Formats: sequence, structure tokens, C-alpha cells
Amino acid sequence: MKLSKKKFVADFTRTLHERFALSLEDSSNYEFYMSLGILTRAYYAKAWQKSTEQLKRNQSKQAYYFSIEFLPGKLLKSNLLSLGIYDTVAAGLKDLNLDLDELANYEPDMALGNGGLGRLASCFMDSLASCGLPGNGNGIRYNYGLFKQKFVDGYQVELPDSWLTSGNVWEVRKENKAVEVGFGGEVYLVPDGSGGLQPLYENQEILRAIPYDTPVVGYQNDIINQMRLWSVEIPLREEGKYLTVEQRKAVEDITAVLYPDDSSEAGRLLRLKQEYFFVSAGLQSIHNYFTSLGLPIEDFPSKVAIHINDTHPALCVPELMRLLLDVNGLTWEKAWDLTVKTLSYTNHTILQEALEKWPIFMVQSLLPRIYQIIQEIDARFVAEKTPQVGPTLVRNTRIIQDGVVHMANLAIIGSHSTNGVAKLHSDLLKNVVLHDFYLLYPERFNNKTNGIAHRRWSQLANPALSQVLDETIGTTWRKNIEDIALLKAYREDDEVLKALHAAKRHNKERLGQLILEKTGVRVSPDAIFDVQIKRLHAYKRQLLNLLHIVKLYLDLKGNPQLAMVPRVFIFGAKAAPSYDYAKTIIKCINEVANLVNHDDTLQGKLKVIFLENYNVSLAEVIIPAADVSEQISLASKEASGTSNMKLMLNGALTLATLDGANVEIRDAVGEENIYLFGLTVPEVYGYYQRGDYCAMDYYHADPVLQKVLNAFVNGVIPNIQQEGHVIFESLLNYNDEYFVLRDFASYVAAQAAIEADYQNQRHWTQMSLQNIASMARFSSDRTIESYAADIWHIESKQ
Ligand SMILES: *Cc1c(COP(=O)(O)O)cnc(C)c1O
Repeated sequence: MKLSKKKFVADFTRTLHERFALSLEDSSNYEFYMSLGILTRAYYAKAWQKSTEQLKRNQSKQAYYFSIEFLPGKLLKSNLLSLGIYDTVAAGLKDLNLDLDELANYEPDMALGNGGLGRLASCFMDSLASCGLPGNGNGIRYNYGLFKQKFVDGYQVELPDSWLTSGNVWEVRKENKAVEVGFGGEVYLVPDGSGGLQPLYENQEILRAIPYDTPVVGYQNDIINQMRLWSVEIPLREEGKYLTVEQRKAVEDITAVLYPDDSSEAGRLLRLKQEYFFVSAGLQSIHNYFTSLGLPIEDFPSKVAIHINDTHPALCVPELMRLLLDVNGLTWEKAWDLTVKTLSYTNHTILQEALEKWPIFMVQSLLPRIYQIIQEIDARFVAEKTPQVGPTLVRNTRIIQDGVVHMANLAIIGSHSTNGVAKLHSDLLKNVVLHDFYLLYPERFNNKTNGIAHRRWSQLANPALSQVLDETIGTTWRKNIEDIALLKAYREDDEVLKALHAAKRHNKERLGQLILEKTGVRVSPDAIFDVQIKRLHAYKRQLLNLLHIVKLYLDLKGNPQLAMVPRVFIFGAKAAPSYDYAKTIIKCINEVANLVNHDDTLQGKLKVIFLENYNVSLAEVIIPAADVSEQISLASKEASGTSNMKLMLNGALTLATLDGANVEIRDAVGEENIYLFGLTVPEVYGYYQRGDYCAMDYYHADPVLQKVLNAFVNGVIPNIQQEGHVIFESLLNYNDEYFVLRDFASYVAAQAAIEADYQNQRHWTQMSLQNIASMARFSSDRTIESYAADIWHIESKQ
């Protein structure tokens, strides 16, 4: 949109006055932030209305991305950038002696997700709108987002994230789009008067689902999609009745918190309620919209594509069947055909514990009609497939087995597409993890390598680098990310290399300032900034990183004069509240940090920084400052990873196992611009098959490893009496589930190569340049365009 600085300043002052009855002088940053948000909303209101009307008029096919997590972070700057008024607004504010960055900080992070899964969903929202594709989000409006992490004596402490307290400028409550969702009771099938059966419900609890729509602004294209998040309420007709505090709370809990603790039965039931709640509400609202178009129901799949992001929304299968059977009165065969054509599914993990299963009794008592439908799907699957493929394959793939409902099986059987999220991961699905399904439905399997919303991770997070790009290759990369490859031509250009180096240094100073404020520790921008930021999980192997740090510490203690390029190891990670082992690792990292950061004999050569409360906003400061990107999961365990992509875009060099999308990063940048180490997938599976991995052998054979591990139990690392033993035993007595000891030596060697190479700054920057210039294929624009073309069959409006 067009906006002059003068008009902005006038609009801003007027908004402040109208909204808060305040003058500039009497306002605080909170009012400034809110006014700026309200004004931004006004700037896109017309485009939003137009986008919505146009879709309806053209009866365009739309995609709906169902996800139990979204992790957008902050929206103010991203909306300004997309509207094309970022610079104007920043300049206008400056004239008023205000700072856009400072105001933007007032916005709470929208943290309705745990990590990569939710962030991917948000990158997809951005790309759908920016590519002009009609695609919307569907999820839950949790009153409390992911917990706020604090460290107390080195331990993780979880505090509630009440992000809605001071209001959310972006969302719009859509009262007239509310629907009702039913739970529990009994269901009977009774004659419907025309030869069929219809369900009769008794004692069902009916709740009201209210949608809150958050616009998703496309990048400078006047396209606005929406993310619809559902909140639960007590139906108006029930409001008059007397409800106890407990009854009221039981209802409100459904959309109160993200991932309630599932270690107790009550917690798990709540989770299942959440899943059905947002699935049913979302599908009903889509069904209502479709009905309003006045088309025959047979057209449903040619107007609607619904995506099941991981297994949490897998109840889409029986719920869509329910609507088509019970509301539209279709035959089973017809309803099934439409359901499979409408739905598609993404698998995000091969970890067994993450594949959802629900006990039959839970599904049956909470969702009696849905359970009937699941039973029928299962029975028909068995009857149809057994003669074709035999009983063994059917037993391995059916939905109801051993008293539980398998959600992944439900999602695969009830949809026309199942994709993995990186080439390696998709191949593992086909050949190993979901091999039996692949035999049944080979045509359904495909790969869609993840991607990142590069606008947020470069233009917003890294203005210094963006400026170097503008000055070197022009500004077209901002619109067409493929053009970032033009940078490759400057590999030998000393001016450009110098500018890239200076931008990195600027970002390291910016992060250093934040580290000083948050931790009191001073770090030098001359040091290598070595970054590992991701959820804390054993398979991601933060522990391997820590063992190497302890090795460096012991080396320096053994020889204080040791020549070493100074290193700052930077961590950001939350552990799930009930995941004790992950919390143990957090404690150990914090104690090593405490030890190392206060030991003057190390002469500043080693610092360990664990920043609290890792989230999108923190990532935006850490990533541009990284020299080294730690992507060190055990091969086969990380489905894709996306922080690996964000970091390469920002010029960090990847230190990686051949896991997830790391393989494709290697292909993109070339072997000589990445540091690889560790077991490969076939080697890992070889160990599994033979069952002959013995962690103890590696301990006995390697005196360095011995010293490092002993430091966890002999007091060298203080304050971890208990935790040190837990780590020690997990590696030796429980045989090191994630092959940390097996990969230790090769990891240390790769780290040594990094140190050697870093000393040649010119060459290092050349490698960094190659990484930046090779990132286009990891843009989520590319990812979303192949979802649109291959799976959803939706078209760009532009
Ligand atoms: C990108 C991102 C992730 C995903 O990181 P991985 O290393 O791919 O697991 C998690 N959390 C936040 C806040 C992110 O921005």
C-alpha cells in the first residue's frame, strides 16, 4: 500500500487520541504499541474484506491447515513489512522520537506451540498468503501459551504464559460463526423415515465454539488469508442454569492450555477433548461455508482441501464422515469417497512415543458417534483388504488394535496423501516405518521437504545482512528468493566478503549485548558463536554438545596456555514439563556454564550461555549472530529440522549428522561448505538389526571420553551430584540409546576442523556466502507451492 510519512504521523497521532484520549506526551510505550497495532489493522482492513469476498464470489477452492500448534511469534513488524510500509512507519516514529523495535517488543509472543511443528505451521501461513494461495489455518486459541521458562539454581521452572492479559490487537471474534460441539452421552441409531438411520443423542454435553480470526497478510500482494483459532464457551442457553465452579472450569479447560500434562489420565482425556473440539468446530464451519455456496455435495473435494498436520487432527476423518452421513444423509460409500478425496496428512516423526494411540474406552465414552464411525471404517478396511493382501498386513495396519485407536493409521487410511517432511524422512516412511501402508497405498506417499518463511528470518531478523544483499545483488531477492543465488558470483569479491563479515559482527555484538543484559556474562564478538537452539530432547543430543564443551574445559585446565580460538556455546531449549531426563540435561548445561564462565584461568576462551525462555523472538536475535549451526541429532531421528535452514540463510555453517533436511542442505551447499560427522542412517539401522552396540566399549577404549564422563560423577562439575549420575548411567548402564558415545570422536574431529577453518576468515566468509546463496530451495514458498500443486490442488489468485 501507499503511505507517506506525513500521513502516517497524522494517522498515528489521531489513533492515539481516539483510542486512549491521550496526547503523544502523555502516552507510554504500551499505548504507542496498541495504537500502532490498531492503525495497522485499519490499513489492511479493506484488503482483508476484498480477499474474503473475492474467494466467495469465485467459489475458489481453499485449503485448511488443521494444526494443534501455531507459533507465529510477534506480528507487528511482519505485518508492516508485508504491507510495504515498514520503512515509512519506522521513519515516522523516529520523527516522533519513538523506536519501532522498542514498541514492537511490547507485543507478547504468540506461542501456541512447542517448537518446530507449530513454527512450520506459521511459516506455511505466511507463505500461503504471500504466494496468493487461498489457504487458512485452523487451531486452538489457548488462553495460556507454552510455559515461560526460568532457571532457578540451574533448574528449569515453568511459569504460565498469560499472553492475552493486555488484549490481542490482531484477532477478531466472529460471534456469528460460532458452532456447537457435543461430548459424551449415548447415541442410538433410529430410522430416519426414508429407509435410513439417523443418530439420536441423549445426555450429550453441548459446548459452544467461538472462532477468533487472525489475518495473515501476504507479502506486498494485497492478499489476506486467515488463521482461525477456536475458544470454548458455555452455550448461552446454559448460562442461565446454575453451574458449579468446577463445572465451569471443566469447560474452560478445553482451550485453557497448550498440551496439558498428559502423565495423568485426566490430562490425557482433556487432550482428546481438545483434539475433537478444534476438529469438529473447524469442519463444521467449513461445512457451513460450503453449504452457503449452494453447490451439490459431490463438489466438496473440488472446493475444499483439509490438511491433517501430524496426528492430532486425525479425528477429521470420522468427523467429516459424520457430517456427510448424518447431516447430508449420504451413503457410506459416497461419504467415504468424498472424505478421502478431501483429506491429506503429514507425518512429522518416526519416534514411537510420538505416534498417538487412544484407548477405546476413552474414545467411546467421550465421542460415542465418532467411535461408531471409526469402528465401521476399521471393519470395512479389514473386509476389503484381507482378500487382497492377506491377514498379516491388515493386522499391522488396521486402526483398532489391542484396545487402542491408532491415529496415524486412521489418518493414512482416511486420506489421499501421506507425506514426510524431508527426502530422507519420506524414504524412511516408505521403506521402514510405514512400509506396510506403502504396500497398500504406494500412490499416496510423497515428500514435501519443510521450509521457512525467509522474510521473517532475513528481512525482519537480519536487517544488516539484508542491506548487504540489497547493495550487492539488488533488491529483487526480497520478492523472488531465487535471486539470492546471485550472491554466488561474489565469492571472490573482497568488498562483499568484508561487508558480510561486518554484518555478522554487528549481529554478534547485538546478541552479546542481550547476553550481557540477561546473564551478566560478557562475550567477545571475536569468538566463534556456536549455536544449538531447539526443544530439549535426548535424540537432538544437546548432551553430545555438552560432552565436547567439557572436553574443551578439561583441555584448557590441563594446559592454560593452549592456543584456542575463543568459543561461545549458545543454547536455547525448553524441556517438556514431565520430561525428567531433558530437565537433567538442562541442569547439567547450566552448571557447566556456571563453572566455565567464572573461571579466570580460561582467559575468556570458553563461554557457555544458556538463554532462558527460547521462543521465536529470541531466535530472531540468536540466529543472525551464529557462526556454527549445531544439527547433531542421531541419524534417522530428526524428520527435517527447520532451525538448520534459518541458520544457513543467516550465514552460519552447519555442523551436522546426515539426518533430516541436513542431507538436502549438504546437496545445496556442497560437501566443502558443511561439516559432517557421525553415523549414517544405514549404520544406525545396522546396529538395531544386529543389536550389538556397546556404549561401554567406547568408554573403555577412549581415555578422553573417560575423563569427560568421569567429570559428571567425580565433582569436577559441581552441583550435579544426582544429575551427573543420571547422565553417566544413561550412557553406560542403559547403553546410550542415542549413540552419543559412538559419535563423540567424530564430532570432536569435526569441531577441530571448524576451529582450524575459522582462523582463515576470508575462506570462512566464502563458505558462509555459499550457504546464504543456496537457501532458496528451503523457502516455505517453495514448499507450499508443491503442497498446493500436488496435494491440495488450489490456485494462486494473482
Ligand atoms: C525454528 C524453530 C524451532 C524448530 O527448531 P529445530 O531445530 O528444527 O527443531 C523451534 N522453536 C522455535 C522457536 C523456532 O523458531
